[in-house]
Amino acid sequence: MTSPVSRLAIIGIGLIGSSIARAAKDHSACETICLYDGSADVRARAGEIGLGEIADTVTACVKDADLIILCTPVGVMGEIAEAMAPALKSGAIVSDVGSVKSAVQEAVAPHIPEGVHFIAGHPIAGTEKSGPDAGFASLFEGRWCIITPPDEHEDEASVQTLTKFWEALGSTVEVMSVSRHDRVLAITSHLPHLIAFNIVGTAHDLESVTEGEVVKFSAGGFRDFTRIAASDPVMWRDVFLNNKEAVLEMLGRFNEDLSALQRAIRWGDGEQLRSFFDRSRGIRKSIIDAGQDTADDDFGRGKPSSK
Ligand code: NAP
Repeated sequence: MTSPVSRLAIIGIGLIGSSIARAAKDHSACETICLYDGSADVRARAGEIGLGEIADTVTACVKDADLIILCTPVGVMGEIAEAMAPALKSGAIVSDVGSVKSAVQEAVAPHIPEGVHFIAGHPIAGTEKSGPDAGFASLFEGRWCIITPPDEHEDEASVQTLTKFWEALGSTVEVMSVSRHDRVLAITSHLPHLIAFNIVGTAHDLESVTEGEVVKFSAGGFRDFTRIAASDPVMWRDVFLNNKEAVLEMLGRFNEDLSALQRAIRWGDGEQLRSFFDRSRGIRKSIIDAGQDTADDDFGRGKPSSK
């Protein structure tokens, strides 16, 4: 079987970039791989692990590549696109894996030269770990990958190539608009992370009151929150700064619902609490029935249903 892509370039060799390199190699999704990272230590480590050819500059990395995937925090993708633009070959596809899409589209698209196709993407797969040693080849297996071609995009062949690439890595591809992506992910992933960061901070601040017992008795729910809250600070700073509108909208709705629960507790309204919790239990059941339960995935992101 021929590979969907001949030469792959990966910019940013962290959890996601190194996982793509490993998966692409295992599944023969490309013939050759070249990688670049802003950190010399990360480049050296990626070379030791044998992820592919390592370039010393971003331009050397993308030169001759058919598919370039930006795997850095979203806040630097615009400047990387500007730096690599002169070295891109005609007909190449530029994509990314950023967790927000409108801001990436706005930052990257203006730098993409005529004859090169930019199709943003987001694999719905991850862990709370970072760096080239955290990656693994099976990360994308059985997971969604959302791609967001611009409305005026006319090169269907590039969309097909990118789709085949992610399918070769074991993912199921869904095409979406950038604004829909950002709203859906705001509630399924970004808000849950914000809540985790906040609850861990609040509990830590309470330590002086509870005399160390938060840590001592951090079973079940709270321990899971601490795992999510251990996610990369730079990545998540950039997610919130770049998906501000959708996150603030979802946070507003969340706060209203929370206030209703607060009121029910204050007034001893057991009926309302019970009916709210019944509804939540029903939602959980429908997620399981749809085959979307991923107990190992705390990122609010489900596997595609096998149904
Ligand atoms: P990561 O493990 O921290 O890796 C990012 C790498 O990019 C780091 O090695 C970083 O180097 C490098 N980098 C930063 N600025 C750079 C620049 N200007 N030029 C070249 N390299 C640069 O992060 P990750 O978890 O793989 O996340 C990467 C992207 O995937 C993010 O956009 C994130 O939104 C998206 N994503 C993440 C997940 C997840 O669960 N982690 C899931 C889906 C999508 P330094 O460390 O030296 O800065």
